[in-house]
Amino acid sequence: MTATRVLVLNSGSSSVKYQLLDMRDSSRLAVGLVERIGEATSRLVHTPPEGGGGRRERSGPIADHDAALKAVADELAHDGLGLDSPELAAIGHRVVHGGLRFSAPTVVTDEVLAEIERLVPVAPLHNPANITGIRTAQALRPDLPQVAVFDTAFHTTMPEAAARYAIDVDTADAHRIRRYGFHGTSHAYVSRATAALLGKDPSEVNVIVLHLGNGASASAVAGGRCVETSMGLTPLEGLVMGTRSGDIDPAVTFHLERVAGMSTDEIDALLNKKSGLVGLCGDNDMREIHRRMEEGDERARLAFDIYVHRLKKYIGAYYAILGRVDAVAFTAGVGENAVPVREAALADMEGLGLAVDTGLNAVRSGEARLISPEGARVAVAVVPTDEELEIARQTFELVM
Ligand code: AMP
Repeated sequence: MTATRVLVLNSGSSSVKYQLLDMRDSSRLAVGLVERIGEATSRLVHTPPEGGGGRRERSGPIADHDAALKAVADELAHDGLGLDSPELAAIGHRVVHGGLRFSAPTVVTDEVLAEIERLVPVAPLHNPANITGIRTAQALRPDLPQVAVFDTAFHTTMPEAAARYAIDVDTADAHRIRRYGFHGTSHAYVSRATAALLGKDPSEVNVIVLHLGNGASASAVAGGRCVETSMGLTPLEGLVMGTRSGDIDPAVTFHLERVAGMSTDEIDALLNKKSGLVGLCGDNDMREIHRRMEEGDERARLAFDIYVHRLKKYIGAYYAILGRVDAVAFTAGVGENAVPVREAALADMEGLGLAVDTGLNAVRSGEARLISPEGARVAVAVVPTDEELEIARQTFELVM
């Protein structure tokens, strides 16, 4: 029997998201999530394959990632999709930071794990959880290839002029300080899907990808290669996000330390968790912001305007970097759903060949689609992202 299934694991500090895919037709056999690992109120939500009954939910303490993955294995076994199945080809893991070393999906060895561990100082929140996920999966199926698919990999093609910060080179190199970029799996998937939507090969098109979720990033992709992206050493830089500030003058941090007496950890929490949309108006959900704007709420309006202003600034900058733009693609929760954000971000840019057709923009659909007016110089697309499918594909290609 040929093994055609891939289990995709996205391990966070207190959660594990998983999908089991059959790579013969890229279908999803099971999808689920374990959250609040380590708390008394842990929860597992599992959606079995079609015809396998409804969604199942399990509540109660799940102590650690090991217990979480065992619970997932039990649910899969219940559906006849156990991890001991010979049909399972590999487990693909989302790993947030691969530094400069990993520019492609990589089969995990002890040496690879050690390198992911060495990158913990630049990804203290994410890489430790990813490592735990890999180790746990290894213990469960030691014979199976475990593949790491890095969030940073797609961005390793950036030229030095885009990737280096203008700080002392020796200090930067000693501490590996540079722009790495994140959401790479999504930028890769969406830029390729946008080319397909235009009936072109990725090598033929220049695309600006706007991944607007709770975290948000932009990238400039020239002929299939990333040449610039908005997140930096960490996911804090760039666009205004749900709870992150994005770009600010770095001197704000010294100012807060010296004048407001805040500690480094307090400033870290302020900029990563209490800024962005939530800091500006108290809500990080764009749906709620739209609702409040319709009621005339001025703080919600200002938050929206600041969000859109930053987005426009990046679109213009990446237009200049690329020289010629064939498409702008919106993706992730806000990009795929927020009609007013797409409209406002491209308003008054006809001079650059950019426009949104109001009717097409208002259509709700889960499919990749164009929303620019017929005959527009630059295509504007909405392209639902699918990071799990991309991780599964990359994993399967590597092990087949
Ligand atoms: P993600 O991180 O990609 O899951 O995106 C989550 C975010 O998408 C939420 O915080 C909302 O701000 C946004 N979002 C989801 N659905 C909608 C919608 N129908 N309209 C506007 N924004 C939405």
